[in-house]
Amino acid sequence: MYEKSGKINIFWFENGASNICGLELDDEIVIFDSSLYSKKFEEAIDILQDKYNKKVKKVFLTHYHPDHSFGVIFSKKNLELFMNMETFYCLNSIKKESLKSLSDNSGSDFMNLQQLLTKKKVELFNGNILKSFRNTILNGISVGGHSKDSTIYIIKPDNILISGDLVFSKVHAETQGANIDIWKDLLCKLDTYDIAYVVPGHGTPSGKELLKVQFQYLQDYSNKEKLKKLYSTYLLSDLLKDFEK
Ligand SMILES: [Zn+2]
Repeated sequence: MYEKSGKINIFWFENGASNICGLELDDEIVIFDSSLYSKKFEEAIDILQDKYNKKVKKVFLTHYHPDHSFGVIFSKKNLELFMNMETFYCLNSIKKESLKSLSDNSGSDFMNLQQLLTKKKVELFNGNILKSFRNTILNGISVGGHSKDSTIYIIKPDNILISGDLVFSKVHAETQGANIDIWKDLLCKLDTYDIAYVVPGHGTPSGKELLKVQFQYLQDYSNKEKLKKLYSTYLLSDLLKDFEK
């Protein structure tokens, strides 16, 4: 599904798969996250480039998980990739067995991930990144929580939060490798920020209320029975259930 709000264009998926987000600027479109599949990623880029008659040159990653990062790494498009150092380390540390099981489960060949990454134009940042595009400012902040390398992006002056997997919208949270306490603290902190619109890592975008809903989900998380009952309509992005670094 495709949804637009101001400068933001979101491709979200009814099966709970990860989102691809495009920010329309004066003379280019900047992308956040890239799904697992390069074909799906490239289709989204082509749609946006045609729609706005502007080029996609830069892709920012929220974290290393394959369903967010592999699309751009396995893409043949020549794009500049932005990620924090931890994300880079994590991608380079994914074990062959994990790549093998992910390849088998998805029907794609991901075995040469690390080799392909060496050929990409990558700009790394340590902690935070601040980029200005005429009248739009992009602030990437490394926060951890969902995964130790998680980065959020805040777009000013529009007050848009690209949360990565700190927020799942009507989709069960992926919690493997997560620090739930840090995650909950972050959601509380973000709730004090001036945020008008949240682009979650999975599921439909919405307003700031998504932060509170995600916080409550994590509060309920330890009680599996309660979780099942209260969130019975939530989707599960099952491809990565068994994924381990
Ligand atoms: Zn995800």
